Amino acid sequence: MPQDPRSAILAAATAPGIWDVLVIGGGASGLGTAVEAATRGHRTLLLEAQDYAKGTSSRSTKLVHGGVRYLAQGNVGLVREALHERGLLRKNAPHLVRDLGFVVPAYNWWAGPFYGIGLKLYDILAGKLNLGSSKYLGKEAALERAPTLQPEGLMGGILYYDGQFDDARLAVTLLRTLEDHGGVALNYAPVTGLLKEDGKVVGVRFRDLETGREYEVRARAIVNATGVWVDDIRRMENADAKPMLSPSQGTHIVVDRRFLPGDSAIMIPRTDDGRVLFAVPWHDHVVIGTTDTPVSGTSFEPRPLEEEIDFILNTAGRYMNPAPTRADVLSTYAGLRPLVKPADNADTKEISRDHVIRVSEGGLITLTGGKWTTYRRMGEDTVNRAERVAGLPERLTVTPGLHLHGWSEEPRPDPLRVYGSDAERVEALPGADRQLHPELPYTEAELRWGVRHESARTVEDLLARRTRALLLNARASSEAAPRAAAILAEELGQDAAWAEAQARAYQNLAQGYQL
Ligand SMILES: Cc1cc2nc3c(=O)[nH]c(=O)nc-3n(C[C@H](O)[C@H](O)[C@H](O)COP(=O)(O)OP(=O)(O)OC[C@H]3O[C@@H](n4cnc5c(N)ncnc54)[C@H](O)[C@@H]3O)c2cc1C
Repeated sequence: MPQDPRSAILAAATAPGIWDVLVIGGGASGLGTAVEAATRGHRTLLLEAQDYAKGTSSRSTKLVHGGVRYLAQGNVGLVREALHERGLLRKNAPHLVRDLGFVVPAYNWWAGPFYGIGLKLYDILAGKLNLGSSKYLGKEAALERAPTLQPEGLMGGILYYDGQFDDARLAVTLLRTLEDHGGVALNYAPVTGLLKEDGKVVGVRFRDLETGREYEVRARAIVNATGVWVDDIRRMENADAKPMLSPSQGTHIVVDRRFLPGDSAIMIPRTDDGRVLFAVPWHDHVVIGTTDTPVSGTSFEPRPLEEEIDFILNTAGRYMNPAPTRADVLSTYAGLRPLVKPADNADTKEISRDHVIRVSEGGLITLTGGKWTTYRRMGEDTVNRAERVAGLPERLTVTPGLHLHGWSEEPRPDPLRVYGSDAERVEALPGADRQLHPELPYTEAELRWGVRHESARTVEDLLARRTRALLLNARASSEAAPRAAAILAEELGQDAAWAEAQARAYQNLAQGYQL
């Protein structure tokens, strides 16, 4: 029986000594910061309350993009930075990011020239890291690229390029990259308090959720990268800290590939509520979204609202033929945007998408805002700040050219492509020839790999984030849960009752992803 890898990680995390950088939160922001710190040679520990990317970072639209929408808002600096980062990520993780053509359909005479000019500017801002030049398409060419576009009234379209990725797989890849560079990361380890000395934050208390034991660890710099939960951590230092965030929810639906059979995505530049709607091919399915609904609280499992589903289906139905209906939805998921509050009470669509770094009186460094695409830059800025705040040696960044774990340009078919150069090792594990479920692309070997090498601890970790079964087909993933639980139990040396409880817990969760 293989050895449970967690005990060694826990021992490393709690070994005596002082960490240089301790990061709270294992989403895009925290993992990006931890990789940045470790690759500069700082001793780095990351603690995650649940699982890596359990929060917002597994619930995105899956785009590595400059943000055409922010261009329309005139935020040229933000778009330029994001386009630069898009280009770097494309080079540093070619196994996880691919170029994707987007068709912007034009249903009136002015839409073509209007969006055409905007997207030329997008090309120019990307500079030499551009993925491909935008161009005008006639009606036939637009339909060739996106055959299910509503043909009635279609005058043509604009084709432009952005990147596409697998968000939770990038998180796991960053975890592995962190470990490759000597960093330590522990999931299911929520920070429950901050240690203070002479008014300074010098460490944290965390709980190992698997044993219930509490530990204290000390660090020179402590980074709060907990997404929509940053205010909870800030209040551990100062109970009266004013909230920084005004979260907003975004929902997506996932449907069969027949609703978008071509190679391109569709981008609707202006929906009824002034947002952008994407229909994007992803792992041989189609992701459609998103919405922007202000919410008052936070949750690890935000639920799509009925009106969000209706809005997505109605809007998609106006531009797609056939139009997806409720019965076609294979999965639906919601994520919370950590939007930084403006001075006044602006609409969430207008709130800054830029990242923000704030340092408290006690030296707690809070990083929030931003987006997946700019995670590297956010990490770089945060570690620059942390070095100054904590008196660490100031070192130059190496991440602009850093190949992430598994880096490979070899074209591999889905779903093995995301493992990059590890793919052959995954395939060498038992179960590589056994598909987990007839409607899911994954094999049993991938689950074993997730437990042995990617810190998966639950059936949910395996089906929601190591593989993306939950998002591709929630019902099928639920049917696969008992087998996934049996494999997990075997890998971790747990018994049948434990496996049954795991499968049940997952099936309850997966209900929330079905309509
Ligand atoms: C609907 C939607 C679509 C999006 N689409 C895109 C897109 O296509 N492209 C793009 O670039 N960006 C996109 N974004 C933005 C991007 O997903 C987010 O900016 C990013 O994922 C935020 O990462 P984060 O690490 O700050 O937060 P999170 O991913 O939420 O990570 C925070 C982590 O902190 C952990 N945590 C909380 N409390 C504690 C504690 N006490 N102790 C330890 N850990 C704790 C949580 O469990 C969580 O894992 C989208 C966002 C949304 C909401």
